[in-house]
Amino acid sequence: MTVAAKSATKRLRITLRGAVQGVGFRPFVYRLATEMSLAGWVLNSSSGLVVEVEGPADQLRLFEQRLERERPQASVVTVRESSWIAPEGADRFEILASDSDEGKSVNVLPDLATCSQCREELFDPENHRFEYPFTNCTNCGPRYTIVVDIPYDRPNTTMRDFVLCPDCRAEYENASNRRFHAQPNACPVCGPKLDGAIEDVAEALLQGEIVALKGIGGFQLLVDARNAAAVGRLRQRKHREEKPFALMMASLEMAREYCEISPAEVQLLESQAAPIVLLKPKSATDIAWNVAHCSPYLGVMLPYSPLHHLLMQECRFPLVATSGNRSDEPICIANEEAAARLKDIADHFLMHNRPIMRACDDSVVRLTRGRAGILRRARGYAPLGIRVAHAVPPVLAVGGHLKNTVAIGVGQDVFLSQHIGDLDTLEARGAFEKAIADLCRLYSFKPELIACDLHPDYASTQWAERAGLPLHRVQHHQAHVAACAAENNVEGEYLGVSWDGTGYGLDGAIWGGEFFHVSPNDAGHRFERIAHLRPFGLPGGDAAVREGWRSAASLLFEVFGAESPHSDGIAQPAGKPRLEDSRVRYMLQNRINVVPTTSVGRLFDAVASIAGVARQNRFEGQAAMLLENEIGALRTEQAYPLPSGDWGPLIQAVVADKRAGIAVPEIAARFHNALVKWILEVAASTGTKHVVLSGGVFQNRYLTERASAALECRGFVVYTHQRVPPNDGGIALGQTVMNRQT
Ligand code: ZN
Ligand code: ZN
Ligand code: FE
Repeated sequence: MTVAAKSATKRLRITLRGAVQGVGFRPFVYRLATEMSLAGWVLNSSSGLVVEVEGPADQLRLFEQRLERERPQASVVTVRESSWIAPEGADRFEILASDSDEGKSVNVLPDLATCSQCREELFDPENHRFEYPFTNCTNCGPRYTIVVDIPYDRPNTTMRDFVLCPDCRAEYENASNRRFHAQPNACPVCGPKLDGAIEDVAEALLQGEIVALKGIGGFQLLVDARNAAAVGRLRQRKHREEKPFALMMASLEMAREYCEISPAEVQLLESQAAPIVLLKPKSATDIAWNVAHCSPYLGVMLPYSPLHHLLMQECRFPLVATSGNRSDEPICIANEEAAARLKDIADHFLMHNRPIMRACDDSVVRLTRGRAGILRRARGYAPLGIRVAHAVPPVLAVGGHLKNTVAIGVGQDVFLSQHIGDLDTLEARGAFEKAIADLCRLYSFKPELIACDLHPDYASTQWAERAGLPLHRVQHHQAHVAACAAENNVEGEYLGVSWDGTGYGLDGAIWGGEFFHVSPNDAGHRFERIAHLRPFGLPGGDAAVREGWRSAASLLFEVFGAESPHSDGIAQPAGKPRLEDSRVRYMLQNRINVVPTTSVGRLFDAVASIAGVARQNRFEGQAAMLLENEIGALRTEQAYPLPSGDWGPLIQAVVADKRAGIAVPEIAARFHNALVKWILEVAASTGTKHVVLSGGVFQNRYLTERASAALECRGFVVYTHQRVPPNDGGIALGQTVMNRQT
């Protein structure tokens, strides 16, 4: 290798941090340096990727620019440092063995969907890896789900027991090969194997059987999406009533047959994360009615592993693809575990011998305000770090109770776990503890502080109380807006709008319709609750979360007293209240088991009930979703009165409209518009121009988009979630950043 004249020689040391391992960064640096005739080395260390290059100064500067411009697509660089050091007279460029020192801060990469080159090889009969279900390369394949430890090298993955054959080894060691240092590299000779035939699985699916397939982040349950009886059987065995199922489609073309897909949605479907994308379904397709019930969306993903590609090639019809678990339990990852736990659900199994290190469900993404917004963050995204504006002390945040995720704060990086789920079952609590131990071990992280929710009954809070470390209890709705502010790097003061179904308030009431004026101070942020929904009683407490009609009965009772109509808005024959309503009325009259709340989520339930749209939530947020869905393409500026968050005039108007026979879409729109107007009203009353919208209610696209547009129109800057969910899946991030390094 030629190296420039010694007199002009300089040496540059560059350190890159972020998602730089497992994406082919070292071979890229090697090729670039070699092409530019620069000497030096590149090294994967536990604290990042380190490059030293030696050559003429102008060439080194060009090298730095090209390093940024041409770096691998999947890499994310969060920190780049460079410094001039003394030249060493090196005469060639090499890749040094990884070290494994202390202070691990390298991001572990998420799992990457099969790249186009690997896909071509998969279907090329001439290729050595023709129809090999575990093919991958530097640009694609499993990462987070096979990492045992970092740095990310083969002996630190679940591929360590597969000894590379001479051909694979040659690829692995050849810097010009696209499998150079691809840690999960494998072929039919040396790699993992299926323990069944894909054709048999396809046949079983066609016969209406339920198949448990070992995927990337765990087992999936598959069934023919066109077969209502089969889908019904899956629902029954999985104990999942109406919550929509996701679908896997063979190709973009197939997805287009079933859904309207915008260019931005195409990008999401085909991205390396390959998430479930919520799409608008076309009418009159052969998808069974009970796949998504009355949801306005179909959750669709494309095949993201070679195994999925092979299966979909064989099936050529859409499949329901849902997590391999019973409702509310964690997803199965080990073969024996799946055989035991799924034996009453699946008729047929397809397993293999590549171990999955940790569970990772399929992620769910939807376009809101023209941008991708993650609703469930798992495979393809976890555990990418989120860089925040201020360093945090070594804190472990244990999240909420529903849709739980946990997080660790390492300086300015917050590593958020994958979606763990609701912590109602023993299994889920086990998964929660495992995720904490796993995250800490992977990053050699020792928490000095634990952040948890204020709610004393959350399983996460109770775990935190037993952990024996200093505890920081963070109010739920403050955590919501802090999370949104953090991922958007909002500095300075802002108005936080925090609306959800349920969260423990500072006064012990159930909050969920809160406005905070947030101003930064030395300790972090000062939260002032400047407005909230007028409180009302939830008869039966938690029972009202599932039975939305109870909220309706309560509000109607408050507004109309003994004359109040039924909870579905229908006037009662004199002296004859419906039995369930009269029971609730007794509770309300005597203030028995009535819990005060300011929750906008519960107000949604009430209006959905009065409007006759839904009396219950068969899954979280269902009634609100149905009410939003009613609006459809209707556009109206009319809004119900909701003066300073007082629902009295609103409930009166809803009932009047219902009696006057006003159409449900109109009622739904007027209700949503009332909420938008209230946000504008509060925003106008504060001095700040920055508005942060967070909480599960903002999964409502109509509300989020309309509120954002109205605010922006009046000169406000609006921040909504993109990389973490607006629902309780984002709580752990907020809990983390509400601690500041002092
Ligand atoms: Zn590939
Ligand atoms: Zn091989
Ligand atoms: Fe919440």
